[in-house]
Amino acid sequence: MGVFMEKADIKSWDQKELGEFLVSLGEKPFRAKQLYPWLHIKHAVSFEDMTDISKKLKEKLINSCHLTVLRQVDMQQSKLDGTRKYLFALPDGNLAESVLMRYSHGNSVCVSSQVGCRMGCKFCASALGGLVRGLTPAELLEQVYRIQEDSGERVSHVVVMGMGEPLDNYGNVLKFIRLLSDGNGLNISQRNITVSTCGIVPKMRKLADEKLQVTLALSLHAPTQEKREALLPIAKKYGIQEAVEACRYYFQQTGRRVTFEYSLVEGANDSREDAGKLGALLQGMNCHVNLIPVNPVAERDYRPPNRRRVLDFKNELEKYGINVTIRREMGRDIDGACGQLRKRFSERQGEG
Ligand code: SF4
Repeated sequence: MGVFMEKADIKSWDQKELGEFLVSLGEKPFRAKQLYPWLHIKHAVSFEDMTDISKKLKEKLINSCHLTVLRQVDMQQSKLDGTRKYLFALPDGNLAESVLMRYSHGNSVCVSSQVGCRMGCKFCASALGGLVRGLTPAELLEQVYRIQEDSGERVSHVVVMGMGEPLDNYGNVLKFIRLLSDGNGLNISQRNITVSTCGIVPKMRKLADEKLQVTLALSLHAPTQEKREALLPIAKKYGIQEAVEACRYYFQQTGRRVTFEYSLVEGANDSREDAGKLGALLQGMNCHVNLIPVNPVAERDYRPPNRRRVLDFKNELEKYGINVTIRREMGRDIDGACGQLRKRFSERQGEG
């Protein structure tokens, strides 16, 4: 860990906290109004760049604060749909992956919330190395800021669905959401922010009680407890009924329709019978099911079902009155599933 960790992480604060900090440095609180846009709108990469900040204040900031800026180490762009996968170096040298997807409704960025992950989902490349650490609010924000700066395009939607389990880094992710949707910053509507969890039930309920307007997505991936346990170890701790119940609670508390993510793995959870059981489980809920033909993971023997089978699954589910979409594969020609870009880069470094 570098010296910066002992300094204040200035980009992880809201404008009020920034003001309080500036007062502690002997400055007037209104200076926060001057400084905040440099951090969260203009995305300055150094204190030196902040042209209307006095030399004296800059010196104080340099001595007492760390300015988190992610360094882009790799980027691949899909020739098919313009999707970009970014690999960023965090200030301590760890790597995080983020993805920019261009849709007709706007640009969406998928951010990572942790380096590695300890949830161990069987179909996920991120899980192979275990958890290293959670990302700070500043490191979460920076993924969006750097992508906006690099692409020169406004980001309107953010999904916390990259590497890591967001609710396993609860406080930092919550702060990130608040800063991202703050009117003084990028001002991304909470309705355009999605948090995807593998089902840490107490944290899902806690998030519901925050009464934010973000969309909660549950990685369900199986219609029964037995099958879910085989894919997601977390299901042994928090059962499928409990997880679905927490989604009902989320809807009650926030009025926001919950999304269920369902990765289709050939031969594991993609039969018509599975679809029927899923339909029965979710029937009557104000929800949306997103079917995701799984990305093949070389280390594990998972393959996506063919198109016909995917459509059969969708049709069966719709019989239960459930709203279903099939996720369009983005960036199919570049490194596939989350975690793979980081993994391949690390392997390349290792070889070199
Ligand atoms: S799918 Fe998400 S929660 Fe599960 S191991 Fe991968 S990163 Fe972690």
